[in-house]
Amino acid sequence: MAYQTINPYTNKVVKTYENHDDAYVEETLTKAHALYKQWRNEPVEGRAKILHQVSQYFTDNSDELARVLVEDMGKLFEEAKGEVAICAAIAEYYAAQGERFLEKEPIETVMGYAHVENHSMGIVMAVEPWNFPFYQMMRVFAPNFLVGNPLLYKHASNTPGSAVAFEAAVKAAGAPDGACVNLFINYDQVNKIIADIRVQGVALTGSERAGKEIAAEAGRNLKKSSLELGGSDPFIILDDTNLDEVNKIIGKARLYNAGQVCTSSKRFIVTEKNYDKVLQMMKDAFSKAKTGDPLDPNTSLAPLSTNKAKAGLIKKVQAALDDGATLAFGEVNEDMDNNFFEPIILTDIDRDNSAYWTEFFGPVGQIYKVKDEQAAIDLANDSNYGLGGIVFGGDPNHAAEVAGKVETGMVFVNNFGGTVPELPFGGIKNSGYGRELGKLGIETFVNPEMIMVNEKDYVDMDNTFGGFV
Ligand code: NAP
Repeated sequence: MAYQTINPYTNKVVKTYENHDDAYVEETLTKAHALYKQWRNEPVEGRAKILHQVSQYFTDNSDELARVLVEDMGKLFEEAKGEVAICAAIAEYYAAQGERFLEKEPIETVMGYAHVENHSMGIVMAVEPWNFPFYQMMRVFAPNFLVGNPLLYKHASNTPGSAVAFEAAVKAAGAPDGACVNLFINYDQVNKIIADIRVQGVALTGSERAGKEIAAEAGRNLKKSSLELGGSDPFIILDDTNLDEVNKIIGKARLYNAGQVCTSSKRFIVTEKNYDKVLQMMKDAFSKAKTGDPLDPNTSLAPLSTNKAKAGLIKKVQAALDDGATLAFGEVNEDMDNNFFEPIILTDIDRDNSAYWTEFFGPVGQIYKVKDEQAAIDLANDSNYGLGGIVFGGDPNHAAEVAGKVETGMVFVNNFGGTVPELPFGGIKNSGYGRELGKLGIETFVNPEMIMVNEKDYVDMDNTFGGFV
C-alpha cells in the first residue's frame, strides 16, 4: 500500500512516503506503553495543559495546516481553515472540561463506601479517513490524550501529508514521545497491533467495509472498538417549513467538502406541498457551484479527493440511472483528466433502485416526494444507515418530536447539521457504534474502575450476596 499525496486539483504526485517496518512498530508500541504506565500515575492537569497548547498551536498555524489539507485531499482553503479551527476548539474543550468529566463518581451502597474512578485503559489504535484528515484525528486524539491513552494511528493512504503534519503539530505543542504516533503501515500490521496485549482500544472512522473488517479483528482479540461509518442522512422538510430558511443551507448541506461528508444531507425528503419549490431551490443552489482551484477564493466546489473516488461515484450514479432514477439536474462529468464532479440531482428513486440503499460520497442530491409527515419519517428510517439527519418545520417543538422519531444517532432541527466539540457524534445501524466528542466521547476508552471500601470492622457476608456471586 503506497502512502502518497497526489494533488487532487492537478492530479500530480506531490510526495510518496516509505512504509514503516515491524521494528518501528514494535519500538512505537514499547514507547507508547511505557508512557501509558507513566501517565496512569500522573494527574490529568499536566495533560490538560499540553492539550491547551495543542489547541493554541492549531490556531497559530491555521493557514499552514490548512494548506496541507488542500494539497492532500483538495478541499477548499476556507473549508480547510474551518477544519483547523474546529480541531483547536475540540482540543480546548477537552483541555477545559475533561478533568470534570473524569471526576470520581460516588455510589451509595449497603457495603460501605464505593466510587467509580475513571482510568485510562492503554494504547488506542485509530484508523482514520481522508475526508477531514485533521478533524477525525482530533476527535480521537484529544479525549484519549486527556484520559492518558497513547494513540497510534494509521491514516488514509491518500492523505499522508496530513498524517505527518498532525503528529508534528501535537509534538511541537509539547506532547511527549509516544503520545500520538503516525504509522505508515498495511492492513496486516494494523491487525497485529490490534492483537497486541498492550493495545486496549480500536477506533475506526471509514466505510462499512472497513468497519466490518476492523470490528471483526477487534472482536477476535476482545478489544473494545468504536466505529464511525458512512451515512445516507435524511433532510426532512415538513409542510409548515419556512422555505426561505431551507434555501439558506440547501446547497451547503449537500456540497460542503464537495459532498464528501459522512453527515451530508444525502436524501432530501419533502412533502408534496413543498416538493416542486425545494427541487427548484436545489437546482438554483447547485447551478451556482463553481469548480476551480481550491486555493482560489472564487471556487465554491472543490475536486473530489481522488480519481478513483470520481470513478466510483460515476459508477454508482450510472447504476441509479440504469435502475430507473431520473437525472433531474446536471450532467455526469465523465472526463477522467480531472477530479471535478459537477452537482447532479436524482429523483424518482424507488426501493428497488440501488441508489435507495447507497451512500453517494460526492455532490449528488437525491430528492424524494412523500405524501405526509409519517411517510417522511418512514422513508427516513427505511435505510441501512443511521448516522444523522435534519428536520425542518414551522413549529420547532413539533419538528423536534419528528426528529425523535428518526432512527439515527443525531438530528438537527431547523439548522445546518454542523459539528461542535460538546455535541456527541456517532450513529446506529450500519453507521457504526460508539460516540466521539462531548462527554460521551471521552468515556469510550475509559476504565470505570469500581473501588469499594469496607468501613466496618468485619466482613459482612449476609447483605452482599457473597455466597452467590
Ligand atoms: P475506507 O476505505 O474505509 O478508509 C478509511 C480508513 O480505513 C483508511 O485509513 C483506510 O486505509 C483504512 N482501512 C480500510 N480497510 C482497512 C482494513 N481492513 N484494515 C485496516 N485499515 C483499513 O473509507 P473511505 O471510503 O476512504 O472513507 C469514506 C467513508 O468514511 C464514507 O463511508 C464516510 O461516510 C465514512 N466516514 C464516516 C465518518 C463518521 O464520523 N461517521 C466520518 C468521515 C467519513 P487505506 O486508505 O490505506 O485503504
